Amino acid sequence: MSYYRFIDKGEGPTKLFVGGIHGHEGETTIDFLKSMSYSDFSNGKTFIYNFDYTEYISTIKKEYYETKIGKTIINLIKKHKPDFYIELHCYNIKNYENLISPNRRESQGVPPLIDLENHVLISSVSPLIRKKYFKMETVCKTLEIPCINKKLYWNDLNSITKDIITKYNITKGNITKGNITEDNITEGNIIKNNVVKYNINMDNANEDNGNNYHLKSSFNTYLNIIKILSKVKNRDEFQRIMIKKYPKQVELAVKYAKEIFGEKFPPF
Ligand SMILES: [Zn+2]
Repeated sequence: MSYYRFIDKGEGPTKLFVGGIHGHEGETTIDFLKSMSYSDFSNGKTFIYNFDYTEYISTIKKEYYETKIGKTIINLIKKHKPDFYIELHCYNIKNYENLISPNRRESQGVPPLIDLENHVLISSVSPLIRKKYFKMETVCKTLEIPCINKKLYWNDLNSITKDIITKYNITKGNITKGNITEDNITEGNIIKNNVVKYNINMDNANEDNGNNYHLKSSFNTYLNIIKILSKVKNRDEFQRIMIKKYPKQVELAVKYAKEIFGEKFPPF
């Protein structure tokens, strides 16, 4: 189910947040958008859309904007004429190095993304739409977080459960009453018990992947940057906060913006 939300706080900037741009990304981005409360938004009008699965085509390819979802997004931009346009994306953690690599310029023709912190990446939006549909002053941002593969997460838990069933030789024959009963030996129940027993939680679910990637820290950083964007009154305030919080990253962003959009383009 696609998700839509409109927050009307009267006079002020118009903001457009879009998640689920392509592929399965909407499954990851929706929880962040849903978790926002009324007080997280600035004055003005905020429109939030999160889309379901569509075929994965990169937004730096022309073909994307020829698809149904691509056209829908262009129409939303034309309709709302936002002062802030924010795309929420997610990426496979395996691609982290590629996305931030300076080689991205040669291989993809776009600047690398910038790691804000905790594997949350930021960049402008696709060059195909940046100048065509927005004013120079519009704040256009792409925010990326490692995708949460909900299916994978549960598959992991299922396989852990199977290991435990094997290890403790749990069969219907040796189930004792008061321990695990036939009534509660549903898979979900065992999983739930093991989640508690083995301290499987969002803190450590994805730690062991060679990237020092910590799910909860990423979540916090991602939600925090979304909330900065939802709360600021204008571009100036956004820049001030970002320069203070992420000086090095802003410096890089300014450099990349100049490279791709020219000297006169506003910083960040
Ligand atoms: Zn994406």
